Amino acid sequence: NVRVRFAPSPTGPLHIGGVRTALFNYLFAKKHNGTFVLRIEDTDQNRYVEGAENYIIDALNWCNIPFDEGPGKNEKFGPYRQSERKGLYKAYAEELIASGNAYYAFDTAESLDAARKDHEANGKTFIYNWHNRLKLTNSLSLSAEETQEKLEAGEDYVIRFKSPQDETLRLKDMIRGDIKIDTNILDDKVLFKSDGMPTYHLANIVDDHLMEITHVIRGEEWLPSLALHYQLYKAFGWESPEFAHLPLILKPTGKGKLSKRDGDKLGFPVFPLEWIDPKTNDVSRGYKEDGYFADAMINFLAFLGWNPGTEQELFSLDELIEAFDIERVHKAGARFDPDKIKWFNHHYMQEQHNYELAEAFKAEREALKDIDINYVSMAVNLIKERATFVSDLWDLSHFFFEAPKTYDEKAYKKAIKDDTRELLSELATLINTIEDYTTETLQTTIKGWITSKEIGFGKVMMPLRLALVGALQGPEVFDIMFMIGKKESIERIENLAT
Ligand code: GLU
Repeated sequence: NVRVRFAPSPTGPLHIGGVRTALFNYLFAKKHNGTFVLRIEDTDQNRYVEGAENYIIDALNWCNIPFDEGPGKNEKFGPYRQSERKGLYKAYAEELIASGNAYYAFDTAESLDAARKDHEANGKTFIYNWHNRLKLTNSLSLSAEETQEKLEAGEDYVIRFKSPQDETLRLKDMIRGDIKIDTNILDDKVLFKSDGMPTYHLANIVDDHLMEITHVIRGEEWLPSLALHYQLYKAFGWESPEFAHLPLILKPTGKGKLSKRDGDKLGFPVFPLEWIDPKTNDVSRGYKEDGYFADAMINFLAFLGWNPGTEQELFSLDELIEAFDIERVHKAGARFDPDKIKWFNHHYMQEQHNYELAEAFKAEREALKDIDINYVSMAVNLIKERATFVSDLWDLSHFFFEAPKTYDEKAYKKAIKDDTRELLSELATLINTIEDYTTETLQTTIKGWITSKEIGFGKVMMPLRLALVGALQGPEVFDIMFMIGKKESIERIENLAT
């Protein structure tokens, strides 16, 4: 029974890399009929940011990758906020002390700093482990009585993991395969602090165990913690979940990790939803507000580190679940290409119902307020193939809603010749005679008339388009004429003819 978790820390808005991690967890869970858990890792009170948890939940919902279990939902293994589980971690830290896998340390920040400087002066790096342990102030270097005294006196302490000397750890990662680690390079990580709070490492392992997590899928930045996590499972005598560390997401240049600050610098959002910083009120752009469809973003993100091994690029969420295979996730960093997400958005724009696009379009444009939704839908249908965003629609379709106020200068020069005005007047008269005003009749009548006059099509079609649109762009002229109606068409033609 597969159980995976997404375990963000609410230290700010969820960035695109976090969404990718959540997505891969979601896909893996759904692929194996498993459970996708959301756990909020908020043990670091100093970094807690107001509104971040709600943002995370809103973002997952907008992306259509909701969690099955988490804060406020199917709380079978709850609570799902580590701050609400605070009381349970200490006993686990003490269990490790009792079994000889952890110890109390009383070193002050100053004494650690001095030790670090001392090493540096001799060209060495200081590691708090077997190498230095006995020279420092902890329950391994002190007697049992001395340790007890310090604890009773209420001195600040931390509980550190006792990393073994001269051992080779054999770790396994579903994406990276076998990894060997020499324990001599590991430091004795802090698991618990005297303020009563566990560190990330302890809380994470204890909760993954208690929540019966079977697979840990997370970003590559956590790979260095894997050795410790493995050892913690061993020390507790618990079965370890399997691990998969997802590749880094790289800047569009391919050089360096994409950071939260890159969006503003490079001109694209790095967050799914807009984020207003509660302290500064600074606004960071979001994909949603920038007009992206959630499906497009998800399809795009799925390809950051994974590919199906075929040419297919367009995948609905269900198709992704079907095709997803964690073994096919690669190790190499995945380059973030903001043009590619536009390409996906263009595709998903075409998939939207015209009616829904029309609703969004109307909501965005004051000028469309009183225009019938069906008429807007029909206009959208005729031009959407050239749109990537709903916000592109107006420029592509304004002539369905209002007569041109000006004519494009270049187009005017190109389309208007000496005999154009006369031809347009004749054309207006001809159109007036058409009883069955449909796209087809317009087309056959006007084309027949041009042929009978033995003049080039461009001589009429170009100025006709200019009269209707104000430029030489847009969909089929006859579609436009049908849409705006006979009276309006004639008026626009006469406007240009006089
Ligand atoms: N709280 C960690 C984070 O913010 C979770 C890392 C993990 O998945 O183990 O990413």
